[in-house]
Amino acid sequence: MPNSSFIFNSSVELHSKLQERSLTCVDLLDAVYAQVDAKEPQVKAYVSLLRETAYERARSLDLRFDAGEELPVLAGIPIAIKDNICLKGSRTTCSSKMLEHFVSPYDATVINRLNAQGMIPVGKTNLDEFAMGSSTENSAFFTTANPWDLARVPGGSSGGSAAAVAAGEAIVALGSDTGGSIRQPAAFCGLVGMKPSYGRVSRYGLVAFASSLDQIGPFARTVEDVAHLLNVLCGFDPLESTSSKQSVPDFTKSLGRDVKGLKIGIPKEMMGEFVHPDIREATVKALDLLKAQGADWEEISFDMFDYAVSTYYILAPAEASANLSRFDGVRYTHRCDEAKSLKEMYTRSRGEGFGPEVQRRIILGTYVLSSGYYDAYYLKAQKVRTLIKNGFEKLFQTYDVIVTPTTPTTAFKPGEHSENPLAMYLADIATIPANMGGLPAMSIPVGFSNGMPIGLQIMGKAFDEETVLRVGHAYQQLTDFHRQVPGGMQ
Ligand code: GLN
Repeated sequence: MPNSSFIFNSSVELHSKLQERSLTCVDLLDAVYAQVDAKEPQVKAYVSLLRETAYERARSLDLRFDAGEELPVLAGIPIAIKDNICLKGSRTTCSSKMLEHFVSPYDATVINRLNAQGMIPVGKTNLDEFAMGSSTENSAFFTTANPWDLARVPGGSSGGSAAAVAAGEAIVALGSDTGGSIRQPAAFCGLVGMKPSYGRVSRYGLVAFASSLDQIGPFARTVEDVAHLLNVLCGFDPLESTSSKQSVPDFTKSLGRDVKGLKIGIPKEMMGEFVHPDIREATVKALDLLKAQGADWEEISFDMFDYAVSTYYILAPAEASANLSRFDGVRYTHRCDEAKSLKEMYTRSRGEGFGPEVQRRIILGTYVLSSGYYDAYYLKAQKVRTLIKNGFEKLFQTYDVIVTPTTPTTAFKPGEHSENPLAMYLADIATIPANMGGLPAMSIPVGFSNGMPIGLQIMGKAFDEETVLRVGHAYQQLTDFHRQVPGGMQ
């Protein structure tokens, strides 16, 4: 077997190889698909592959590289796409029976943006059905395995994207994050994962879960790659009404800057006994390393953390119940056989097409929006959300970033939480608040516990991705946790 260890390189490293022609786009793609063929039987990251279009693009890029053209940094880089993002001509299943045979007739804005750079979509990745979950166990098709330990989950809902990159079955990936679905799997799989500010990245072509919280964002091994991906993904889109007109900086510019004088706050509520001691220790070690570089950190109190999960599980299902009402069996979805009335067609199609967690959320959401309960639940949750947002704004008057462990534990085993939805919901305690506040938040690898990766979450002010990236990059210059590759994947 040829030495293809470059599949674990960053995009930036691969770019120089492609540009100087010591590697071709086709060689790179061959190596990635060879890894897919070798590892997919165990990892199961992908719902579908895009070999034909990928090779077509690789061949045409090679001609341009051969002709001496200077191509963008991300040209020729194989990327995995979460299967709730529309890619023209490919299935977009959301890992649901409801959309199992749905072929997207158009490209999401993010796909257009990646295409314009010459990135190469490798395949569509598994997720918890409609992005509802934290482990990929809610996928209607199969559960993805964690490349660090195949007996554990990769996290979710973007578990397929995270596992694909960790296993070397893609160089980078796209996910979506409504309450932690990029950061939690990034933490579980030893990667960098970022949820940009609300409004930064167009969601046109992302199948909506909870529209006031959903964001698309990248997975990569390095913060530098994430900065390059953000440069491509971010920006106003007239097709998306919540897309922001805020100007987009060159995110790679913030990387060279050191962390001297930066003020970091760490909420004590996220360092309690419920967080595994190894994770608490790795968190403090990471902070001390930044302190040695001139940053300052102190413990703070942010009691709104305690309310974030309960608020989220009212607002997200409420929005989901409205968004998912379009899947009614009439157009592009699963339709039951031989219904005798329209009502029976609706109810049976939805009953057969949606899995148990999605049904639970639709019922919850419909309940909290129903008259008589709206004020007591939905309206109240909206008020708490405002308090969380205001609380963050106040903290950011003093601190440049707020840091927490990304997750209270490392990757768990399938079945460990699936019997108890509440325990699964609590896995998102640290990640949900950033969605509530519309803030940029990134998870970076900062250590291991029993061989499983640990993630640190860095949250910034709305639209201040730059400071978040700056802190993450400074940390990666001093450590090599992000360079580790799962033993079984080499
Ligand atoms: N795990 C959370 C949920 O189940 C978050 C999911 C997400 O961010 N898409 O809702």
